[in-house]
This record gives sequence, structure tokens and C-alpha cells, in this order.
Amino acid sequence: MKAILNENLRALADFLPKPLYVVGGAVRDFLSQRRAPVLDLDLSSPMLVEEFLPIAEKFGFRATAVYKQTGTLKLKDEQGQEYEYTCFRSDKYVRGLHSPVEIFFTQDIELDCRRRDFTVNAVYYDVKNDKFVDPLKGIDAIQEKRLTTVDNPEKVFGEDGLRLMRLARFAAQLGFSPDEQTLLGAQKNAALIRDISPERIFAELSAILHADERYGVEYGHYRGLSLLEKIGVLKEILPELALGKELPQRADFHNYNVLEHSFRATMYATKEIRLAALLHDVGKPYCYFTDGNSHEHPAQGERIAREILTRLKAPNKTINEVCELTLYHMYDFDLKTGENKVRRFLVEHYPLIDKLLALKQADFSGCKDDLSTCPTALKWRKILEKMQEENAPITLKDLAVNGRDLKQEGFPDHALGKLLQRLLLHAACSPSDNRKAKLIKLAKAFYKEGV
Ligand code: ATP
Ligand code: MG
Repeated sequence: MKAILNENLRALADFLPKPLYVVGGAVRDFLSQRRAPVLDLDLSSPMLVEEFLPIAEKFGFRATAVYKQTGTLKLKDEQGQEYEYTCFRSDKYVRGLHSPVEIFFTQDIELDCRRRDFTVNAVYYDVKNDKFVDPLKGIDAIQEKRLTTVDNPEKVFGEDGLRLMRLARFAAQLGFSPDEQTLLGAQKNAALIRDISPERIFAELSAILHADERYGVEYGHYRGLSLLEKIGVLKEILPELALGKELPQRADFHNYNVLEHSFRATMYATKEIRLAALLHDVGKPYCYFTDGNSHEHPAQGERIAREILTRLKAPNKTINEVCELTLYHMYDFDLKTGENKVRRFLVEHYPLIDKLLALKQADFSGCKDDLSTCPTALKWRKILEKMQEENAPITLKDLAVNGRDLKQEGFPDHALGKLLQRLLLHAACSPSDNRKAKLIKLAKAFYKEGV
């Protein structure tokens, strides 16, 4: 552990009158032999911020934020490494309030342990004496890949609903599992997630969707989603999706109910489209329960996905992309769409096509765990290759005329955009017409038709 710490941190620890500890993720990751870069190092000691900070500054640490009330400091050293320092403390909560109502600073490391979440996150490394301090046997839990709360699970989850999401995230990222009591405590307190801000929920959900990227735990994101469902948090944060559990699907296409299919599609999805994979069928339960069939599910899904992501305060760009992918995920699913129509679709949605094909692949694989290339992707890739061979224009840049050319021919400004788009769609299907003279002739005809 010593080797991963900066010289100046070790020098500071040697100088301080009380022991300085590294705690949290860095210790847990070191002990479980995960060598992910430590972005923020969590530090703790029995020293108040007012006592600790002046000494730390002498050793080249700079405070970037000071929260005296919670005994917390954000620090940066001369190498740019970031730290979060907290004075040993004990927190008093009112059930469901998420933030402590009272904070007591203490000299007692065990009390500091008990205000944390899981024992794997409550192992302390004493920097000066180069030894681990482990009052709650967190090292055993790390070795057993077990998530156990630092106190009675009812109390731990009852104090802060965010810990429910953290449980699923750590299970997902680390490949650990909650013990029985911890699972039960989470289940009993699932409704407390309602007290957590949508932004925090969305951030934790995103971390779960990308959990496998952190330490390379295969399908960690699937593990995290399944746990969210198991503890009852999914039906709180994504009730529209959770309804899919009640919905079996046609056995000739599907091995799983709608919810499990959505999880599996997400499991197989490339990282860019995980959220879309999770929500792509969110319209299905609604359609089944209102119409008795799923015909309208892409359009209803788009509407519901927008409601969900707006509620979770996701960035607008994310919302629009997920909605567009959801809306089109069934396009040409039956392979019956004619080639020219597909060509026009590819051109009209070109910036989204790679992601849409990735979603179609994930959707296909999530039905029966079939990892072979999905039929629509095979068909569309072939069409795209053919278009390239034929030099067919795919974007406006590939078109043999531009707005200036059309303007010179006397077309009014307001018609230029529409004319160019119409010419592009035409030439995508008839690439030999992608010549200036021919396109101008066509433009005149289109203009006469009212574009
Ligand atoms: P990561 O490696 O993702 O940073 P971490 O365990 O270091 O994981 P942090 O959010 O950096 O997590 O928090 C540092 C430590 O503070 C945690 O290990 C845990 O002991 C404690 N902690 C953080 N958030 C909570 C919480 N909501 N409830 C209880 N303890 C928490
Ligand atoms: Mg941390």
C-alpha cells in the first residue's frame, strides 16, 4: 500500500501528531488487487479540519473546498492528485432524510466505521505505521467478495437511501454480492430511494450501466441491474420498465420476459448504447396493458423514455438520442423493407446508424442469447457497402451540388435546404444521377412539384 502513496503524503503522516489513514475505495481496491487508477484518495484522521489543514498546507496540499460542519476537506497536492479528507465522526440521521441531522467529531475509529456504508469500505490504512486497521473485518469481506453493512442493515439503509444504489453499483463494479441480511435490509428499505435527488440516481444508474468498464468485471452491469430489481429499487426509479417482469413474450422469438430481455439486451450492448438498450422496449408493458398487443411499442416507448429521462434529469442530448433509438429500434426488423427505402432511411438517419445497428444487435442477442450478427445489421451493412461501391451520396457533402449552386440557378433561399435533402434522397437510390447538370434539372422538377 505504501508504494502507491505520494512521498509528500507519507511525509505529512510522519509529521502529524495523530495517525493519518487512507480509507474507502483505494484501500478496498488495493486489498482486492484491483489496479485501477485512484482518482480521489479518501483520507481520515481524528484531527479536526482546523487542526489538520494548516499542517497539510505546509506539505504542499491545497484546499479546494472546506466544509467545516461535516469535517470534510477537498485537497490537491502539487502533482495534481486529489484527496477528500474527513475527520473521524459519527452521524445522526432521521429516517428518510438522507443527510445527517447531527454530526459529532470523535477520536474513536470504530464510530467512524459505523457511519460508513459497507465493511469493504471501512478498512483503514495507517500511513505512518504502514499497517491496516480493520475494526469490522472488512478485509475478510473483501476476500469473500461480500458486501456487508457496517451496522444493522436496517439502520444503514434506513439512514440514507443512496446506499441502496451504492450497493448495486459496488456489486456491479466489483463483482461482489450482498450477504443475506444486507440484501434483506435493502429490500425492506427500497422505498427510501424516493428521497434521493434524480440527478444522484441518474449518476449511480449510469455508473451501474458502465460498471464493467471500471475493473473489467464481465457483465458487471447486468449484475447491478438484476440487483436493483431484486432489492425493489428498480420499480421505484423505473416503474414503467419494472412492469415488464409480468410480461412473458412469444416463445418463438424470446426466452425471457420483457424486463429480463431488456437486461440481457443491455448486457450485450456496446457501451455507447446501454441506456437505450435498457429502455428500448419500455413501451411494451404499456401497449400490452392498453391495446393487448405490442404494435405501437416503439412510438409509445419513445414517449415513455422521454418521460423517464426527463424525470431523472438526464442531459438533453442523452434524452434525444435514447428516444430516437427507441423509436427506430424495430425499423426493418422483419427485413421486408425494400432496398431503396432502406437507403433513404440510412441517409436520413446517418449520424445515428452505427448506434441503431448496435441497438438492433443488442436487442437480437438479448432475445435468446444469440451472439451471431443480427439479420438487419447484415442486410444494412451490405446495402451501405453497395452504396459506397456505387459512390452513392450519403451526406450532403457527397452531393454534386451545394446550396450556392442552387442559388445561382435562381432557387429562392427558403427552398434550398429542402431541395438539397430531396436530391440527396434521390441520388442515394440513383447514384448515377449524382452529377451537377442532372441534379439541377431534377431540382427544377422537384421545385415545380412544390419540393
Ligand atoms: P470509489 O472507489 O467509487 O470512490 P469509495 O468507496 O471510495 O468508492 P466514495 O464515494 O469515494 O466511495 O466515498 C469514500 C468513503 O466514504 C466510502 O468508502 C465509504 O466508506 C464512505 N461513504 C461514501 N458515501 C457514503 C454514503 N452515502 N453512506 C455511507 N458512507 C459513505
Ligand atoms: Mg473514493
